[in-house]
Amino acid sequence: MSVMTFISPALRSETQDLTALSAPLSIAERQAALEIGRGLVKGARARANERPYLDAFLQEFGLSNQEGIALMCLAEALLRIPDDETADRLIAEKLASGNWDSHSGRSDSLFVNASTWGLMLTGRLVELPDELRGNANGWLRHLTQRASEPLVRQALRRAMKIIGSEFVVGRSIEEALQRSATDASLALCSFDMLGEGARTDEDARRYYDAYVAAIEQIGRSVEGSLHQRSSISIKLSALDPRYSAIHRERVHERLIPRALELARLAAARGIGLTVDAEEQDRLEISLEIFAAMAGDPTTRDWPGLGLAVQAYGRRAMAVIDHVAELSRSHGRALAVRLVKGAYWDSEIKRAQERGLAEYPLYTRKCSTDVSYLACARALFTASDRIYPQFATHNAHTIAAVLGLARTHRDTAGRAVDFEFQRLHGMGTLLYDEARRQLTDLPRVRVYAPVGPHADLLAYLVRRLLENGANTSFVNRFMDERVPVEQVVTDPISEIEALTTVEHDRIPLPSHLYGPSRLNSRGVDFGRRSSIEEIGQCLRSTLTLPSPESRYVTAGVVETAFRAASLAFPEWRGHPVDARAEILERAANLLDQSRDAFLALLAREAGKTAGDAIAEIRETIEFCRYYATSARELQGRVSFLDGVTGERNELSHVPRGVWCCISPWNFPLAIFTGQIVAALVTGNTVVAKPAETTPEVALAMTDLLYRAGVPRDALHVLPMVGKEFGEVALRQHALAGVVFTGSTRTAQWLNRALAARDGAILPLIAETGGINAMIVDSTALPEQVVDDVLSSAFGSAGQRCSALRLLCLQADNADRILEMLEGAMNTLAVGDPTDLTTDVGPVITASAAADLERHIAQMCQRGRLRKRVAISPNTGSVPRDRFVSPALIEIDSIDALEREAFGPVLHVLRYRTEELPRLLDDLRANGYGLTLGIQTRLDGTRRMLFEGTLAGNVYVNRNMIGAVVGVQPFGGTGLSGTGPKAGGPNYLNRFTTERVLTINTTATGGNTALLTLE
Ligand SMILES: Cc1cc2nc3c(=O)[nH]c(=O)nc-3n(C[C@H](O)[C@H](O)[C@H](O)COP(=O)(O)OP(=O)(O)OC[C@H]3O[C@@H](n4cnc5c(N)ncnc54)[C@H](O)[C@@H]3O)c2cc1C
Repeated sequence: MSVMTFISPALRSETQDLTALSAPLSIAERQAALEIGRGLVKGARARANERPYLDAFLQEFGLSNQEGIALMCLAEALLRIPDDETADRLIAEKLASGNWDSHSGRSDSLFVNASTWGLMLTGRLVELPDELRGNANGWLRHLTQRASEPLVRQALRRAMKIIGSEFVVGRSIEEALQRSATDASLALCSFDMLGEGARTDEDARRYYDAYVAAIEQIGRSVEGSLHQRSSISIKLSALDPRYSAIHRERVHERLIPRALELARLAAARGIGLTVDAEEQDRLEISLEIFAAMAGDPTTRDWPGLGLAVQAYGRRAMAVIDHVAELSRSHGRALAVRLVKGAYWDSEIKRAQERGLAEYPLYTRKCSTDVSYLACARALFTASDRIYPQFATHNAHTIAAVLGLARTHRDTAGRAVDFEFQRLHGMGTLLYDEARRQLTDLPRVRVYAPVGPHADLLAYLVRRLLENGANTSFVNRFMDERVPVEQVVTDPISEIEALTTVEHDRIPLPSHLYGPSRLNSRGVDFGRRSSIEEIGQCLRSTLTLPSPESRYVTAGVVETAFRAASLAFPEWRGHPVDARAEILERAANLLDQSRDAFLALLAREAGKTAGDAIAEIRETIEFCRYYATSARELQGRVSFLDGVTGERNELSHVPRGVWCCISPWNFPLAIFTGQIVAALVTGNTVVAKPAETTPEVALAMTDLLYRAGVPRDALHVLPMVGKEFGEVALRQHALAGVVFTGSTRTAQWLNRALAARDGAILPLIAETGGINAMIVDSTALPEQVVDDVLSSAFGSAGQRCSALRLLCLQADNADRILEMLEGAMNTLAVGDPTDLTTDVGPVITASAAADLERHIAQMCQRGRLRKRVAISPNTGSVPRDRFVSPALIEIDSIDALEREAFGPVLHVLRYRTEELPRLLDDLRANGYGLTLGIQTRLDGTRRMLFEGTLAGNVYVNRNMIGAVVGVQPFGGTGLSGTGPKAGGPNYLNRFTTERVLTINTTATGGNTALLTLE
């Protein structure tokens, strides 16, 4: 099957992208859209008492008030909490956090009032004492004090289900179809069997089966011609847990056949099927799947295949052109549902995290609106081949689209056949009013979510939040405080009034850290061109000499210290700005040499592409961050306040020769971070890289020399650690030691330093930890599983921050473990130069053997739950360097005595009342590096944060990948001495503080005081 591929257009600025869109509306069309849109809002406002619950709910409890947020939190989590105790705590916490009185009686909607008055608790479900009836706050206090009362819990669960039923048409497709058959407003639907994306093959199978059953049922129960019948929407992320551009082969093998089967079934049953639009980094691969579906000859005569296109995406117009081309080349009619896009905030965050050159979407709402209208015009132009479907709840958008429809005709000269779409529970009154006012309003289809409430609420709350945003039309539509003229505006005029199309408060990812520091460049793994480029680097046939052949002899250590000591006076004499510029040059050089280092890291350290890129970025950030910090620390003298007639100056001067000892797990980032911190503050350096990774270190050293570091200021000596340490720590010139590695070696260094005569030297040590993640029953299992996989098995578990001990609240442990084991099955363990590999080798065969011994030992103390198969393809890496990820359940924290530095995750169940003891036990092991917390309970989060020793605590996310300057990294206790690497206090430790006090009156009196007016 040949597939027409979509290639992302070259990157341009947002301004260029927007100006490239052809003018969507004429002046007259703009004027008409404003008038009609405003008429719709006025008409709807006059019927405010008919507005559906959800509109009223959003207006009263949007994102702008604490109570709204509290309700959203409750709705998001309550139904999935299995145990009553945790449910009660969530209820008490969220209800106590609002000023509910302020909403009482404000809305005339029964639903909102019911929510306000205790979320459906009024009288009907809980008998209220008379004296509390008039006092919502007092009443809630009363309730929350007795939060264990089962009635309250039941009532709130019921209330959440009622909220859920406002969004969900039915808990099953049967229920949904029954409702559609009896409720005229739901007669024409696109059913969506939604939930979170698949995390396991079993999930994917389940979703697939649900789609098949739904298509069968819809096909049986609805009548009429294709576009007049209810249809189905599918999410590709539900059909395979590894749906992404990187897993293209797998997508072709597994996902495309499933998508084809669903399309064939929908074609056979004569109903439409639309592929929903998801994240931007899945756009290219989604279009590949869609192209395969469109190219299927068996469904060619079926015009029901549709694709959702997101107007906020800067490639939207190119996507529409592509779909039109598909339709032309395959000689078939297709459908496009034009939406604005549901993931705007998370896409902006993701682009920043990934250091993308440009945002893939527009940064202003009015740009999205203009893009929507330009795409709408293009759809009308292509309406001979594409059936346009406009999904929106915005009155202006509806009016403008109708205006476009009036000016377009198909090739036979007929009015274009098209439809509008709305989400179930939203836009009801607006479309009702449009139907009343406008004679040419076409059919309106309802996107109708189907599924169990508990599974859907997290997803639905995200929808609610999106529509509750201030920029959202739904949020302001019925709010009488906002004049109609402000609710319905012309987006083209808004753009014309702007000085920059780019949002001035959303900096490009490269400028995230302000003018003084550039962010490092990442890779867009959603684009085939970037993936191919990276793949090529990884495939390079680099052959490396054995590490041992690079080793120098112990005799060189003394010479290096002598040379570094001699170089110190000159190097410290360089202005800090000159030293900082060298670091910035090094950062730029490394960015330019990224591909070479990528290949080197994969080859020598067994890094996967994602890990290697992250490490290169971290290294660049260390260089840039320390350059900025050094300028702040040493670029100027600080004057200290004191008595008059005296000047007091504090300055930070370098110490001398630093010894830098770095580990193999970050052979580039930690190696470089230590060295450049010492150098930029004016010290000279003798460094020993890890025994196993000298090539990376030597290549970086060469780069630092090219950037301008004098050769005699930096001496890098690959050799055996013990031999180096014994000589290095005896050197008279030694001024400080910075070390990352095992606690045992750190303690040896500490003792060796203590045994020296003379000055007491600083030691900065970063060591390991037995890092835990504590998950309670309010956490979202899908998120927990994603975060556990990356935290425990990313980098083959060879990060000091990696998760070693997963602590699950017993009440939902089975559910999470089942999902986790399923997700582990999808991990690819093998050749690190293969882009689809998730888990590469560990550093040496002996490390692998040691980990296997640990696993065997732990299996005796606990129970092995899961091991993952190793792929037959391990590339050029010997098989004995692979450890298949393991999941071992233990009964007691005491079973875990030491850190196992590899892909081994231990899991422990706890009961809620045991949480304080669990925290004590974690503290008792003496380590304090990272802690993960997954909870929706602020109280639990606070208690854990206050009680832990961990230096870095991560809430509701993974616990690896600290960002330089953003999450300064380092632990306490057995995990390290501080100061934190990549933090504001790191460079201080490489310097000595000096204070200069000058009696300014000694030379001619206190002139400053005498001349005071
Ligand atoms: C039937 C139906 C099906 C849908 N299917 C999908 C789908 O498959 N995939 C999908 O992603 N979404 C889908 N959506 C959601 C849709 O993308 C919108 O999020 C939602 O409809 C709100 O848009 P609006 O026109 O109704 O409201 P409006 O209030 O006019 O627009 C809100 C939208 O503007 C955009 N926006 C907000 N702030 C900014 C900003 N600063 N810069 C740029 N853009 C901004 C966002 O897209 C936001 O959702 C669907 C919606 C409907 C009605």
